[in-house]
Parts: sequence; C-alpha cells; structure tokens
Amino acid sequence: MDESHKPVEKFWNFNIETDVRVMQGAPCAAPPPTPEIEHYRANVTKKLREFYQDLCMSKEGIDAPNESFNRWIMERKVYDKGRDPMLPTACTDEISPAMFREIMYDIPIRLSKIKSLSDARKQLFQYADAAKKMIEARPFTAEARKLVKWHVEETFSWLRKDQNALIDDYLNRLAHLRRQCGAYLAEAAKSSVEDICRTMYHMSQESSKKILDKHVEVLQLHNIEIPAALPPSGRLELIRPMVMPCETPKVAGITQEINKRHVCLTYNGELVRLNYLYLEKLESLYRISCKDDPKMELFLQRVWCLLRRYQTFFGPNQYEGIMLQGALPSTVFECLYSVFGVTMECFASPLNSYYKNYSSAFADTDCYFGSSGPLMKLFPVSGSFEVNPPFAEELMEAMVDHFEKLLAQSNEPLSFIVFVPEWRDPTPIAILRMETSKFKRKQVLVPAFEHEYRSGLQHVAPLKEVYHKAVHGTMVFFLQNETGFQKWSPTQDRLINCSLHLDQIMQADIQNYGIMLFTLYVPLFRKKL
Ligand code: SAH
Repeated sequence: MDESHKPVEKFWNFNIETDVRVMQGAPCAAPPPTPEIEHYRANVTKKLREFYQDLCMSKEGIDAPNESFNRWIMERKVYDKGRDPMLPTACTDEISPAMFREIMYDIPIRLSKIKSLSDARKQLFQYADAAKKMIEARPFTAEARKLVKWHVEETFSWLRKDQNALIDDYLNRLAHLRRQCGAYLAEAAKSSVEDICRTMYHMSQESSKKILDKHVEVLQLHNIEIPAALPPSGRLELIRPMVMPCETPKVAGITQEINKRHVCLTYNGELVRLNYLYLEKLESLYRISCKDDPKMELFLQRVWCLLRRYQTFFGPNQYEGIMLQGALPSTVFECLYSVFGVTMECFASPLNSYYKNYSSAFADTDCYFGSSGPLMKLFPVSGSFEVNPPFAEELMEAMVDHFEKLLAQSNEPLSFIVFVPEWRDPTPIAILRMETSKFKRKQVLVPAFEHEYRSGLQHVAPLKEVYHKAVHGTMVFFLQNETGFQKWSPTQDRLINCSLHLDQIMQADIQNYGIMLFTLYVPLFRKKL
C-alpha cells in the first residue's frame, strides 16, 4: 500500500477521555532530563553493559545472556527506592533473582536450539567438556566431584564409541547428563554468580552517582536546583501525567532532518530517528499533556531525550528490546474501549501507547508525553485498564501482587484485562497466581498464529512490517473487583459484541484500503465462548 494513504488515526486514539481515579503519588523524584545528561547516561550504561559481558566471560566463560541486562533493570526497578529513573541504586537485596537465574541457566554452557544431528553431537560434547573444566577449577565436595567426573567420562566414552547414534539419542544423553550433574554444577557456580550480581549492583550505584553529579552540575549552570524528594499527596483525583520537580533548561544544538519517511534528530553528533508519523504522534501527546511549554520550545530536545533513553534502555543491537515492547493491535484497544470501558494502558511508552493515558517505565522522559510514571507507583481506585506487560517474570509477579492489593482495597469499579503469552513448562508464578486469583472473572486463550501483535519497533519500522503473527498463544485474564465485575463483566454478550465490533473494523479496512490491515483478535472472543 502507498504509505501516503496510511490510516493514521488507527494507530492511536487520543479522543478517548479517561475516568481513571487514583490516589495521587509523589512528584517525580528524578530531575528533568537534558540531552547532555542523556548522552552521558548512554555512555555510562554502555560501559555497564560491557562490564557485564566481561564479568560473565571472565568468571563463567559464557557470554552475558541475551537481553538479561534489560530484564535485570526491569526486575530491579520493581524494588528499587533510588532516585535514578533507570539504574538500580537502592534495593534491599543486592542479588537480583532474575540476573542470577538467567546466568545459572547458561552454566556450564548456553544450550541453543538443536537443528541437526551434528548440532546435537556438538552440544553434548561441549556440555561434557565444560562440566569437566568446572570440576577441575571449582570447589566441589569429594562426592560431587566423583559423580560429575564419572558421568562426564562416561559421556566421552559413549561419544567415542557410538557413531550410529540418532539425534534423539544425543538429546536423551544430554538430558540425562544435565539431570545427573546440573545441580552439582549450579552449586559450584553459585557464589561466583552471586558475585557477578552483587558487583553489577555496586557498579550500577556508582554509575548512577556519576550521572547524578553531572546532572546537578548541568542544572546549576542554568541556576536550577533539584528539590528534595516529596512524599505522596495521597489525594483521590482523576489521573494525570506525572509532575516534574523543577523546570527544564533549554539547550541549543538539536538539529532536525526529514527524509522520505523518517525524522532524524541529532545532538552532539548523535543521531536518533523515528517515523515521521510517530513524531506527529509525540507532538499530539505533547500538546495534550505538557503544561510548561506552550510554545513547544523544548519539544525537540525532549523527543531526543526520550528516544535516547529508550535506546539506552533496550540496548545497542538492532532488534534488542523488540520482544519487550510488542503491542496489541489498535483494533483490540478500540474494542476494549467500546465494550469494556478501557481508557488506560498499564505498560506502555509514548511510542507504543494507544490511549493518551498510560503508565510507563520512565516518568522523567515520558511525563511530557502523557505518562503517569511506572505502574508500581500508580495506585488507581477506579477505572478499566488494558495490561500487556513486558515478559520479565519478577515484574509480572509484582504486577499481580499490586493488582490484587488494589482490587481488594477499592469498592469502586476496578478492572484489569491482562494479556500474557501462553507460557508453560514451567508456568511462571504470575500466570499461576492469575489462574487461581479470587479476582479472576474469566480466562481466555487465543491460539498461536490466529492473532497478531504490533512490532516493538513500530516507531521505526516500515508500515507493512508493523504487524506480526503471534507464534505463541496469548492468555487473557479478566481481573475485577465486585463493582468492576458488575460494571464490565466479561459476559457472553459483551464478548460477542467484541467479536462483531472487530469484524466491522476489519470489513471497513477491506473497504477503505482494499486489504485487511488491522487484525485479528477475533478468535479471542469467538473461539472459547
Ligand atoms: N502499550 C502496549 C505495549 C506494551 S509493551 C500494549 O499495552 O500493548 C510493554 C511496555 O511496558 C514497554 O513499552 C515497556 O517500556 C513498558 N514498561 C517496562 N517497565 C514498565 C513499568 N515498570 N511500568 C510501566 N511500563 C513499563
């Protein structure tokens, strides 16, 4: 389809007014971002990522697990009481369970997907070899050492002898070896992996201190003082974007260049880019939400900071972070609004939000574009919410805790419709908790390949690459308190209504654009009625 005929209005809808009421929290504790500081933060965080890779390599002989740094930040920020908007600095427990688990999973080697016989043979050999090296270098009890050594030698001798083995024989052998030795290897690596987690936490504290010192310096040059952190106001009010504690200095030096589809913003030689359509989106959000810049003089520098922050957060590689930001199709949001009164997203960014009201990871960069700050700091008493969390186990578990407390505390209508991947073997605690929650009013499974997600890179991807078929099932949970259930109960009628509504949207797509653009959660509401 010609990009000039894009159905812009379908990606978001800022005409939807929210009725969500919250117990008002404190103003943002972090000072207002500036391009100089975001540039500095990016460099400091890059070093921290490299340091993580070096630690994993030097201590365990493995690469840092994929995206584990990103999930580490998400998990730590659930418990962190520090002022830094991104890096953990004040957690009671220094060892992150997410980081610990993910490194342990790759010890003694990272097992990759086996596609051929030679892959299977190679991986069995590598596992045995790495286990052998561990018993030579690590502390084991005499008993454990003897046992691991015996299994390793037995594997080597089987590998030498058995040349006609099938792929399944290798896989069974590998599973057997892991069962017999895994626990001993994990025990031997435990204290060293704990050291990695602890060291990363301390390095993060140091990095954050450097950033804060520089931030104070930069703001002082503009005669801006960072005020002391304030307590929550505790008033019951309509939700609004997070308030910043002080003004933002205007800086020079952001240049803007527009090419066919993208806008490139450069500061100090560093370029960030996004689809022109999304710059328009950010401009709309800014006009609606930002109160301190009616002439839009700070708009571009704030967009630069926002994009730089998300790049720093999700990492330098091209597709990194894509899985942590996948969004529901716009049709589903529209439908959730019409049928279940949903007016707010619990997990979003200014780049992927559908509604103008949402919660996001970073209050300081995102509040000018409508964010009310991180979910755990939001205390709604009434309203209907869509929830599509990033796939980070501890964050999801904390989310369920948070929802259960909120639902138990409020007598006003409160409802969360949660979308998570069908994830089993083992089933994450967050999913088990929702399955057995007393607030669960309905649970639906949308089968794999029968629905789609919007790409986590929707703001830079070409339009035709925005939607992806889901290769996993999606589980949908309706968590509601009694009055929420009365107001928005997931009745047969409502679900059928959703289905008809989605059908209509799709018919309109076909009529207007000749193809079906926005898909396909219809099975969600049709299959399991
Ligand atoms: N808003 C879309 C996309 C969700 S993807 C939807 O609801 O379908 C998950 C989003 O959660 C990402 O944009 C990520 O940046 C954001 N996120 C991560 N940690 C968060 C937190 N603590 N609070 C709120 N949002 C968070």
